[in-house]
Parts: sequence; structure tokens; C-alpha cells
Amino acid sequence: MAKIFCIANQKGGVGKTTTTVNLAAGLAKVGQRVLMVDLDPQGNATMGSGVDKRKLALSVYDVLLESATVREARVQSDKLAEAGCGYDILAANRELAGAEVEMVSLERREKRLKTALAEVDGDYDFVLIDCPPSLSMLTLNGLCCANGVIVPMQCEYFALEGLADLVNTIKQVHANLNKDLAIIGLLRVMFDPRITLQQQVSDQLKARFGDKVFDTVIPRNVRLAEAPSYGVPGVVFDPSSKGALAFVSFATEMVERIKKM
Ligand code: ADP
Ligand code: MG
Repeated sequence: MAKIFCIANQKGGVGKTTTTVNLAAGLAKVGQRVLMVDLDPQGNATMGSGVDKRKLALSVYDVLLESATVREARVQSDKLAEAGCGYDILAANRELAGAEVEMVSLERREKRLKTALAEVDGDYDFVLIDCPPSLSMLTLNGLCCANGVIVPMQCEYFALEGLADLVNTIKQVHANLNKDLAIIGLLRVMFDPRITLQQQVSDQLKARFGDKVFDTVIPRNVRLAEAPSYGVPGVVFDPSSKGALAFVSFATEMVERIKKM
């Protein structure tokens, strides 16, 4: 049975997409079967996995509206497969923004993705869902099917403030829609140990959230930022870079974590 994780944080630009595609590639590299679901109409995780969002025959939009199954809509990227980091992709583009409105009148609209993913449960070890930067119906669909949430965050002054909103939303979804849901962990990303404030916020996070803070820390690394323009995750673009190595460590940490779930 696949373990399903949402990569969520309602703030934009905090590293959700970078985390999703690099964790997917890292997990594939260590032998895990992975499906990456792009739930952001911006389609950055799609493009960053080597799939052209302007040329999609089917996408997650069709799956949410039940005009296609996951098996029909999932695609692969040759570049990832050649690098030994292949994962399946349920892609997204701007069309997905319309799904939000079109789903309003539908029954069990928050459970559409959950229902669709049930079909491929046996095909994967991990399903990773890249959420948009909002607590919208799309994010809710992700949270309703997930076993847990991975929250990437920068160790900055306002980081903890935004976290409170996300924790509240997760509590509500847990109480009303998905008894499985929990924050699996907080992932420190774009970390620069030379910045004293980042060290302080990191210490505060550990003091307050303990085990919920992942051991792995993702450094600020320009190779991770360059990779999307080549249509691959940093793990594939420059496997020996500090950022890539950190994401492969994080993949290993996740494999260990799910053994305890
Ligand atoms: P989100 O999906 O939360 O909006 P992204 O993953 O797109 O965030 O990251 C925002 C920007 O920061 C992107 O330009 C990305 O390349 C860059 N970035 C993310 N993580 C790192 C990192 N560890 N080091 C350097 N740049 C990073
Ligand atoms: Mg993103």
C-alpha cells in the first residue's frame, strides 16, 4: 500500500515544489516506486519533472473531474528514467485553476483525489502531492487523501506565525474528513548555517516541535535553483551537489519513517 504525503505550506516560495520533485527523485534513486501529483495550477512540479505543461493530453484536472483515471493520465519523463530516478507524474497546468470552481457543485468534492488514487494504491510505495500556496479546495483534496503532511519551511522570523494557520487547518481536516492526517514533519530548507537568525529559529523549532523536525536539513544551494530550467530535479541535474545529497538523505530518512507508520 502506498503512503501518501502532501507537501504543503500556504506561503509561496518556501520550497514546496523543490522539495516535492527532489524527494520524488531521491526516493526513486533509492529504489522506491513513486507517483508525484502536481496540484498547483502553476505546473512548476510538472515542468520541473521534465513534462511540458503546455502539451498535456490528460492531467490531474481530468482526474478530479472524473473524465480520466490516474492510470490513463499519468506520464513519465525520459530524462528522469535515463538518470535512474524515474517516477510517474500526474501533471497540472492552468486548466486546474478551473477545477476549483467546477467542483463547487459536485458531491464529495474534497474526496475526489482520494477516490482516484485508490486505483493505483498497489503501484507505488510513495505518492507525493505538491500543493498550491493556499488552503483551497485543491489543497483540501490533497489533505483528504494523505497519511501525512511534510511542511518545508525557511528558518526565518515569520516562519512560526504561518505555521499556526496550517496546523489549525490540519486539525480541522483530521477531525472532520481524514482521521489519518498528521504533520509528519517540518523540513528546514534553504538553510544557511552562517546566518545566526536561522540557527536561532532552527533551535526554536526543535525546542517546540521536537521529533517532528526532520533530522535532514536542506541547504541553500544554487544547483537546486538552476535545475528547473533544465526540466529535472536538482538530484538529477547535479547529483554530487550539496543540495542533491541532502535530498537523497531526506529520502532515506522518509523510507525509515514510513517503516514506523
Ligand atoms: P514553492 O513551491 O513553495 O512556491 P519553490 O520550491 O518553487 O517554492 O521555491 C521557490 C524558489 O526558491 C525557487 O526559485 C527555487 O528554485 C528556490 N529554492 C528552493 N529551495 C532552494 C534551495 N534549497 N536552495 C536554493 N534555492 C532554492
Ligand atoms: Mg510550488
